[in-house]
Amino acid sequence: MRLVSFGDGGSRAGIVCRDGTISDVTDLIPSDLAPGKGALRRIIQGYDGLRDQLSERERSGGGVAFDSLVLSAPVSDPTKIVAAPVNYIDHMEEMQQLSHIDSLGVFLKAPSSLIGEGGTVRLPYSNRRFDQEGELCFVIGKQARNVKVEEADEYIFGYSVLLDITMRGGEDRSTRKSFDTFTPMGPWVITSDEVGSLDDLELRCWVNGSLRQDARVSDLIWGVPELVAYVSSVMTLFPGDVISTGTPKGVGQLADGDKIVVEISRVGRLSVSVSDLGATFSVTRGGSSVPNQLSSQQSG
Ligand code: MN
Repeated sequence: MRLVSFGDGGSRAGIVCRDGTISDVTDLIPSDLAPGKGALRRIIQGYDGLRDQLSERERSGGGVAFDSLVLSAPVSDPTKIVAAPVNYIDHMEEMQQLSHIDSLGVFLKAPSSLIGEGGTVRLPYSNRRFDQEGELCFVIGKQARNVKVEEADEYIFGYSVLLDITMRGGEDRSTRKSFDTFTPMGPWVITSDEVGSLDDLELRCWVNGSLRQDARVSDLIWGVPELVAYVSSVMTLFPGDVISTGTPKGVGQLADGDKIVVEISRVGRLSVSVSDLGATFSVTRGGSSVPNQLSSQQSG
């Protein structure tokens, strides 16, 4: 099943039907579920009881044209977005880092940084470097605390494509990656039963049609089950929480007018544009933490 969010702040949830249209399923949300603006987060909370009705909507189709809706991030109001800092060896090398996730742990991105398919990343400053980081992310299906690696699958609702837009420099990651619009996600969340094994998933990211990132998800240092186990040992995870797995080699600088596309096999294809409209001068000085020369050349 592929599920989307749309409407004001993701107040409506939809399912991508077999005929390619989107059927609004907001009406299926039981009234006893916790209130909140994000409709899809409540669908996820109630998924076990809604599965058959959702499947029926998916089969019957007859919704609105996919392109007629402005999509939000599929989960528009997660309680948190957790992300992996250095989780591919080749990205550690390009960043000239000496340590990776097994030293660094994870970090948080502000949920207010989410945007959906077709959205615009707004670069806030004219004097700083901003990079794209294409990533596989997953959405938590039920409350999780101290989950074992071998039980992790039970807690994963589905997968999506995420861009961890990043300002380079010495500020804390939570600052550099939490500007509004810095977490494009979508276009949908696809349930894990339709993705199957992650071992052969391929991630590719293009900027203005030029391939920057080309990786296999199987090269993750900490895979998805290890991330569920570790993150749930630190903090309680709730339905709809988003965990992003980290980016492979090939991050590169963004500029006004860029078009970014990230595609992950069997998961989806996410497209956004970049604008520096309204950019000001950075009030923090940052540092010199940028990818090495090889990667800068690749990124053009
Ligand atoms: Mn990242």
